[in-house]
Amino acid sequence: MDADVIIVGAGPGGSAAAIHLARGGAKVLLLEKSTFPREKVCGDGLTPRSVKELIGLGVDLSGWIENKGLRIIGGGHRLELSWPELSDFPGYGLVRTRASLDDLLAKRAVAAGADLREGTNVQGPILDGQRIVGVRAKTAAGEVEFRAPVVIAADGNSSRLALSMGLEKRDDRPLGVAVRTYFRSPAHEDNWLESWLELWDKDRLLPGYGWIFGVGDGTSNVGLGILNSSTAFGNVDYRELLQRWVATMPKELGYVPENMTEPIRGSALPMGFNRTPHYTRGLLLIGDAGGMVSPFNGEGIAYAMESGRIAAETILESRQERTDLARERRLQQYPLRLKSEWGSYFTLGRAFVKLIGHSEVMKIATKKALPHPTLMRFTIKLLANLTDAHGGDVMDRVINALVRLAPAA
Ligand SMILES: Cc1cc2nc3c(=O)[nH]c(=O)nc-3n(C[C@H](O)[C@H](O)[C@H](O)COP(=O)(O)OP(=O)(O)OC[C@H]3O[C@@H](n4cnc5c(N)ncnc54)[C@H](O)[C@@H]3O)c2cc1C
Repeated sequence: MDADVIIVGAGPGGSAAAIHLARGGAKVLLLEKSTFPREKVCGDGLTPRSVKELIGLGVDLSGWIENKGLRIIGGGHRLELSWPELSDFPGYGLVRTRASLDDLLAKRAVAAGADLREGTNVQGPILDGQRIVGVRAKTAAGEVEFRAPVVIAADGNSSRLALSMGLEKRDDRPLGVAVRTYFRSPAHEDNWLESWLELWDKDRLLPGYGWIFGVGDGTSNVGLGILNSSTAFGNVDYRELLQRWVATMPKELGYVPENMTEPIRGSALPMGFNRTPHYTRGLLLIGDAGGMVSPFNGEGIAYAMESGRIAAETILESRQERTDLARERRLQQYPLRLKSEWGSYFTLGRAFVKLIGHSEVMKIATKKALPHPTLMRFTIKLLANLTDAHGGDVMDRVINALVRLAPAA
């Protein structure tokens, strides 16, 4: 064996898993097809859920551009809502380009003891019967094989590795598409994450939102995401929609073609556990590979890092067992742990996605809810999954009860 655990993909999920595993004494091989720093199409927005994980990973956050909460624009309203004050989560978010964030996390994984191999493009599994016991990869030096008793697929939305183990995407789970670019803007140091709830395709109000996140380096990340629950999905030119949307903004904010510093790029958002099972035959899925983007707000970085942590904890526990059977039983706990963390929440998220797929519902929600700050504070807690598990205020207790009532996905 070359390692105790092989992790395929060094995005936030893979690097987080590598850090936790290496800290726990496991020998980790972290295989990444690109070389850092590399771009990843993203909004670069980090909610308090992400901040909590980054702190847990020992990342020094000083000097990062912080945000206080969400500025929501829609239905003729403009509302600033601070992140909730909670015991379980910090009270601020961050913005960081993925080129920088992912590079930093991969370096932390190396510092923790993981063996990072960049430029290593995993082609498929090595099987012993039905069970994965390693991977084949292409490198500049040619084809290489790596072996380990446990493998983590952290290779993102298309997860070639999961696919080659027969794990297809589920059509009964939500999917989003999002596009983004960067503009030079005087608002680049805005310390609110701005969300625009009204995206119109002619007279259709689309289920999704536009965002403007100040990066603090002279540019703002500007993008939009749309859910597959409306008839417009797949029939809209997302790039053109983004251009039309920013054209409605005041020119002095700088969102004009001559200030665009990157082409508009897009990618899919796999939501609500859209690839299962999350453990089979020696392979664990984390982050986008397991479809763990929240259907409520399109956030995936926190869930990638959290599932990386949960996978690492499960593997470290399995390593304490003395027999193959006991180790296997431990690994089989991983999907159950994920289900108990987010299964019910994602079930509610699926209902939410269906509901806002109806243009009329979206219109009424935008018009009627936004003028009510208390209702909006509740909505933010629900959409960003930010409540205290124990104690908390009335809103926390109502949301936690709602989540408990929903069946786990
Ligand atoms: C336009 C857009 C905006 C978004 N905005 C936000 C946001 O603001 N906040 C937020 O929280 N989430 C956002 N998301 C979601 C977020 O980007 C993802 O959920 C997150 O990146 C998932 O992390 P991951 O580690 O699972 O996968 P990824 O970040 O996709 O990392 C996968 C890694 O695996 C590597 N890899 C792939 N295949 C192979 C292979 N065969 N061999 C070796 N390596 C391989 C890739 O190079 C990559 O480094 C957005 C997504 C999109 C598309």
